[in-house]
Amino acid sequence: DILIEQTDPEIFAAIQAENKRQEQHIELIASENYASPAVMAAQGSQLTNKYAEGYPGRRYYGGCEHVDIAEQLAIDRIKTLFGAEAANVQPHCGASANEAVFLAFLKPGDTILGMSLAEGGHLTHGMSLNISGKWFNAVSYGLNDKEEIDYDAMERKAHETKPKLIIAGASAYSLKIDFERFAKVAKDVGAIFMVDIAHYSGLVVAGVYPNPVPFADVVTSTTHKSLRGPRGGIILMKAEHEKAINSAIFPGLQGGPLMHVIAAKAIAFKEAMAPEFKVYQKQVLRNADIIANTLIERGLRIVSGRTESHVMLVDLRAKGITGKEAEAVLGSAHMTINKNAIPNDPEKPMVTSGVRIGTPAMTTRGFKDEEARQTAMLIADVLDNPRDEANLAAVRAKVHALTTRFPVYS
Ligand code: PLP
Repeated sequence: DILIEQTDPEIFAAIQAENKRQEQHIELIASENYASPAVMAAQGSQLTNKYAEGYPGRRYYGGCEHVDIAEQLAIDRIKTLFGAEAANVQPHCGASANEAVFLAFLKPGDTILGMSLAEGGHLTHGMSLNISGKWFNAVSYGLNDKEEIDYDAMERKAHETKPKLIIAGASAYSLKIDFERFAKVAKDVGAIFMVDIAHYSGLVVAGVYPNPVPFADVVTSTTHKSLRGPRGGIILMKAEHEKAINSAIFPGLQGGPLMHVIAAKAIAFKEAMAPEFKVYQKQVLRNADIIANTLIERGLRIVSGRTESHVMLVDLRAKGITGKEAEAVLGSAHMTINKNAIPNDPEKPMVTSGVRIGTPAMTTRGFKDEEARQTAMLIADVLDNPRDEANLAAVRAKVHALTTRFPVYS
């Protein structure tokens, strides 16, 4: 810190302010978490200086003997965690992990079938402005009238459109996904089956969410969400796809791997093997369940009626407030969430009628049942009276009282 302060006071000030925000606010963005100090330290290590194009034992640069150890540890650990036959730990992020799968299996113009962004999917699963929607013929499935994945419609569309690739996985879907059913459909139509568990991977490792690895050809994930590692991506795959995926990542899509991040991934995977990680993930689920039920008590609607994971979508229409305004007022009360479209949302994507709430970060700082309930009550207090500055100030003070009791790093 002293070095940054001396070298670049402006960046130092921005980092300090962000540290304060992370300590003071209740972080409820479902895709965020607090990485451990060891994970962060590895990213600030000398490994950032090393070029290592290629894979352990087969590099295009000299001097890779030590980074090889780090990458092999990351590969071995993640394979063990998920029971995977093979793994690639080099994707720079979740999006590039998904792009590597496309590059390995598809040609421009091929048909892919993924979950619609508007109903909970991710933009890399076929959204029109993303490469997945621009370069491929993207067909989508969504939810039925119970706001559960419409497996029948997905199956029908698969038979009608004969996709080369079927994608399961979501960014804003609170229920368990039936990966076995997807796998059967993919087999019936001769598609490659990919699952993107970016959101759920930490839960999967702890055994509290279904593991798609036995059913899928390839499974992609980020490492920085519920898995609580550094920002980055991974790909798990059947051994038969290892060669195609590895050459899609390098030299297909990326140059030198980020060895400091890969070392941090290895550390996070070791942390995820510890018994405490399972205890943590169980509490992530409990906290989400408590928040969902408390918000229902306070007059809000949860999309799909409940959560079976770390995440939920809240329909705000009963309170007469948009997602955009809710994000702003909750932010001013120092609770960080993101606006999110709900199924059949009448508002524009930049406005929305919903917010997405997730519990991985608050649970890392030590929030348990009581604090989860308090957090939900504070959210509802804001939404009941969003334009009253005195109300927002009162909630903010209660948020600070809570977060001061549960420091993240200090
Ligand atoms: N896949 C899913 C399901 C996601 O939710 C996300 C991120 O939100 C990604 C992929 C992309 O990850 P990244 O932001 O690391 O590219």
